[in-house]
Amino acid sequence: MSELIANLLNLSHEYGADERFVLLGGGNTSVKDGDTLYVKASGYSLGSIGAEGFVKMSLKALSKMWDADLPDDESEREKAILQMMMDAREEGEIARPSVEALLHALLPERYVVHLHPAIINGLTCSRSADKGVKTYFPDALWVPITNPGFTLATVIRRLQEKYLREHGESANVIFLQNHGVFISADTADGIRASYDAIMETLSRALVRRPDFSRVNYPESDVEIIREALSSVLPSDEGWSFMVNRELTHYLESYERSYPIRSSYTPDHIVYSGVAPLWVPTSVLLSQDTAGELATLIEDFKQKHGVLPKVILVERLGAFANSSRALTLFVDTIKVAVFTESFGGPLFMEQQYIDFIRDWEVENYRAKVAQ
Ligand SMILES: [Zn+2]
Repeated sequence: MSELIANLLNLSHEYGADERFVLLGGGNTSVKDGDTLYVKASGYSLGSIGAEGFVKMSLKALSKMWDADLPDDESEREKAILQMMMDAREEGEIARPSVEALLHALLPERYVVHLHPAIINGLTCSRSADKGVKTYFPDALWVPITNPGFTLATVIRRLQEKYLREHGESANVIFLQNHGVFISADTADGIRASYDAIMETLSRALVRRPDFSRVNYPESDVEIIREALSSVLPSDEGWSFMVNRELTHYLESYERSYPIRSSYTPDHIVYSGVAPLWVPTSVLLSQDTAGELATLIEDFKQKHGVLPKVILVERLGAFANSSRALTLFVDTIKVAVFTESFGGPLFMEQQYIDFIRDWEVENYRAKVAQ
């Protein structure tokens, strides 16, 4: 194994095993060697990835994508982009490259590590994010929200050209609104130094941290809801329950729960669902809890087109239908609290949420078709 790949694996494992940086294996990494880009294949987890989890791609072929004539129709466009990405793989490669491969290719530095840490997203998902970036990271590039994949790479390419004209070099810290951060460096230690510096700066800027300490709760009420939920909306893993001091604060009332009632980043949409379902205390006190829950769930389905994965019960706690949904919902709470330090919460706008939802379907379809 080459030293470059060994360094790439070390970086991936270090960040992948640290839940301050990576949840459910998310994020992606790459290294460049001559004309070859080794970029994480989609579907692999950073914490456990081996050399086989990286796709070898031709940087020359990737750079040709910029000149391609693309169809106007959005879904035709996405298909054409995916095909070009597949064609940019070196011979014999069968895995599907990360959707951000083009962005990895675009950055001139040797190593790129893209992650979605909660503390960083406290900044990128806040109302004053652009000001915050300017204040705390004057050398970084700030990228307003856009659809991921080719669109994002195109936007960053344009912003980097401008940055290069102004600074004489391209930015190696890129904050993406409602998404995360891209760090690039010519050495693995350069990546570590950048992440360390960012985490330290943000830690100092925080006005408050989430308080996940234990609280007492009425177990009989939890069982009433769990039973009703299991009858109305069964889950393979069973509905798990969570409450803590932070959640208690948010679940005091519908108004207070605002910062945890939508999606901050694509990960939240994919794993916790577009939004949690809000259940008022009256449902718990009702003679027909299951019936009222069924009505709320039906309304939710009408509004969002999907079933809820996380359910918030006023003054009680949160229920999740899988450990993945719960993990990303905990991340939502962290991000919500961290945004308080940077001007307050700012969710993804509906059009971007819709794109991710539809895109996931496309991704899945392509995977099945492969
Ligand atoms: Zn990402």
